[in-house]
Amino acid sequence: MDLLIRGGLLVTAEASYRADIAVTDGKISEIGTNLRPAQKTQVVDAKGKLVLPGAIDGHTHLAMPFGGTVSTDDYYFGTKSAACGGTTTVFDFIIQQKGELMQDAIERRNSLAAPDAAVDYSFHIGVTDVSTEELLDSMEAAVKEGIPSFKVFMVYDFGVDDGAFYKVLQKSAQIGALVGVHAENRDVNNVLIKQYLREGKTDAWWHYMSKNEDVEGEADFRAINLAKMAGTSLYIVHLANKQGMEAVTQARDEGYPIFAETCPQYLHFTREVYKRERARDFVCSPPMKGKASQQALWEGIKRGDIATVATDHCPFTQAEKDWGIVTKDGKPGDFTTIPNGCAGIENMYPYMLSEANKGRITFNKAVELCAANPAKLFGLDDQKGSLQVGLDADIVIYDKKKEFVITNEAMHGQTDHTIWEGVKLKGYPVATYSRGTLVFKDGEFIGKKGQGKLIKCKPIKLSSPQL
Ligand SMILES: [Zn+2]
Repeated sequence: MDLLIRGGLLVTAEASYRADIAVTDGKISEIGTNLRPAQKTQVVDAKGKLVLPGAIDGHTHLAMPFGGTVSTDDYYFGTKSAACGGTTTVFDFIIQQKGELMQDAIERRNSLAAPDAAVDYSFHIGVTDVSTEELLDSMEAAVKEGIPSFKVFMVYDFGVDDGAFYKVLQKSAQIGALVGVHAENRDVNNVLIKQYLREGKTDAWWHYMSKNEDVEGEADFRAINLAKMAGTSLYIVHLANKQGMEAVTQARDEGYPIFAETCPQYLHFTREVYKRERARDFVCSPPMKGKASQQALWEGIKRGDIATVATDHCPFTQAEKDWGIVTKDGKPGDFTTIPNGCAGIENMYPYMLSEANKGRITFNKAVELCAANPAKLFGLDDQKGSLQVGLDADIVIYDKKKEFVITNEAMHGQTDHTIWEGVKLKGYPVATYSRGTLVFKDGEFIGKKGQGKLIKCKPIKLSSPQL
């Protein structure tokens, strides 16, 4: 026994109970009361604290080329920041290049991630090109390499059309993979952009208007229909609108394996942020929506129709956000020249746990959304996502009494601002263990670059809305 965490209240998705938890060789080796340390065992007193499984952030964009630049956090800073917010596994997106086989895309990105990652990581592959049989078939090679999760974009120039989306869904059903989708109606979005710009409507509010509730909701409906037609499961990433939430609920009530992810930014902010002075800092896609959507998402969480919470972490500097005023090339900017994305990787678990601490949801629910369900959905529940003997010792010690105000200063990434500045949290993680190694303690990162490893996931077969 290397480590013994004593006397805490263990919280999993299913239960909360007082117990000691022992770690040997990076894995949870025993859970029980009055466990006895061996001579060399490090003993940690967790009395009065919660002991939780580390979070799994299913949606990040580290070192992501976008909008004429690259997102600010690389694999080191992103995973370091994750560790300091109690997240011990990060799923990053690989964007397949045109003509690139899926296994080559994994190789290309993993060569960037492996030397840098401070906590464990895995990938989803953003599919951009299945124009040949060879490219489509290479999805199976990715599944065999432990990357059974794909994503399609219904927006952006690198996104797919409905035909390619449908082919990816069909293929996934055959090979045991899950398809995630960024659902927004590209054509309507483009029409609205042109109209607004012609009318001189250039500020960040019009980013929201061009990707409003209907623009997202229509694509959610269509994506769900395509999955039904292909007879397979679907994972809608960063769901942010009420219509889409209703479509997900309806499909699930009918028994379809449709799953939704939302993000803390949609649970905390509304479209009102696009009226702020630095509204451009909040530009992300999908944008934050109205109050009705926010309420629908919280209700979806309580009903069990939101499966996961993830961050969509994709930070840019304020200088880059200012390209919405004057572009990189010195031309007048508008809402289309702002790089899309915000920082959030360090805030997800603390925010959701704080909402639990304030009584909005249970702590078990926060763990389910941030750890247990992502593990089940993405095929790593035999390794992570709970506190069980045999699983990786990814453990967070949480102090319910600690007051924390989010400031960029206190964050551990490379960004120069945060949309979460000044938000007050009730409770905060005080320690994070990654496979039994302490990587964060009392506000300080004490892990190492390159300590994280690539997690290989099982093939994914989801035939009912239950996980
Ligand atoms: Zn994203």
